[in-house]
Amino acid sequence: MLDLGNRTSIYQPEQEGLIFPWEPEFDSVEEERRYRKEHLVAACRAFAQEGFDYGFAGHLTVRDPERPELYWTNPMCVHFAKVKVSNLILVDHVGTVIEGGHAVNRAGFVLHANVHEAHPDIIAMCHAHTPFGVAWAATGRPIDPITQDACAFFEDHVVIGESAGAVAVENHAGNDVAKAFKGVKAAIHQNHGLLTASRHSIDAAAFWFIALERCCRQQLDIAATGIEPIRIPEKGARYSREHVGSDYIGWLHFQTVWNQLIEDQPDMFD
Ligand SMILES: [Zn+2]
Repeated sequence: MLDLGNRTSIYQPEQEGLIFPWEPEFDSVEEERRYRKEHLVAACRAFAQEGFDYGFAGHLTVRDPERPELYWTNPMCVHFAKVKVSNLILVDHVGTVIEGGHAVNRAGFVLHANVHEAHPDIIAMCHAHTPFGVAWAATGRPIDPITQDACAFFEDHVVIGESAGAVAVENHAGNDVAKAFKGVKAAIHQNHGLLTASRHSIDAAAFWFIALERCCRQQLDIAATGIEPIRIPEKGARYSREHVGSDYIGWLHFQTVWNQLIEDQPDMFD
């Protein structure tokens, strides 16, 4: 293993005084809530930029820091590009809107509430009906370690085949997903689409979602050529995942998007 001293990652600079996104520390729960809500909005805006909208489908959630049994999510029938701090809703695990004026997405709370309830360590989740993720999900196959980027998901995602294809609007459907979603950061829900989760931040869940969609696109692109891709050997794939596949690395990647969005879309904070 590499000796990182007291650094979390090799990407953190050893040299002092450089501009670099350090993880936040909070003096109060209000400050942490504000941070989580603003970053949830940024994740939604990032999804809009990536073209992840499909009508009202798609939901992102982050737990409230003070009341972890409640979570913040994007409002029903509001385009990802129009989500802002003031239209987020706070929802409980049976789908009651505790704060905010908008309705909650039924399939959204069924999926997310079940996963959040079954896995107290999961802080944030993302789901959307994306062009390549949905297409790849129809194959019922996992992502192969064929690129360094794809290695982030090596032995760190599952394919959920059970209950595949039936819309998850009833509670038991969410249960199946929650059971399978154990100790991994992503799931391919067969015939449905992609899900990611983070034990760290909405930033990490959002970035790994964007990354997984790209991996699905690359798998399909390569398959379309008919050329057999070269698989990275297990040991190398695991090494890459350890260095570039953590929640922290997902968070760090997302800071690039965050910095772009706060300059270009200040109405996020309305
Ligand atoms: Zn869905």
